[in-house]
Amino acid sequence: MNEREPLAWTPLEESIPKDLLRSEVLAWAKRIKVEPKEIRIRLMKRKWGSCSTAGRVTLSDDLLSQPADFRKKIIVHELVHLKVPNHGNLFKALVTSYIRRGSIVTH
Ligand SMILES: [Zn+2]
Repeated sequence: MNEREPLAWTPLEESIPKDLLRSEVLAWAKRIKVEPKEIRIRLMKRKWGSCSTAGRVTLSDDLLSQPADFRKKIIVHELVHLKVPNHGNLFKALVTSYIRRGSIVTH
């Protein structure tokens, strides 16, 4: 018999609310010493995040269900762009040093 209800499996503990992602971004912004003018979390089809020259950071809402380490990489990447607008050596060095320096405690 196949009458069992399909399990509506949503891995809640693996997914965070938008506000938490936003506060992760703010915590990293402080650490990196940048001030994003605006943080947007919305549907993005092709990218995990972007950063405008006006200082607006946009993150994909798919990030909400990604592992903390991955979120960290994207957040740091976009925020470091507020300092360095390209992907040159300085950018890479900064990203690496911030990511190595510690992770966000989310609990
Ligand atoms: Zn980039």
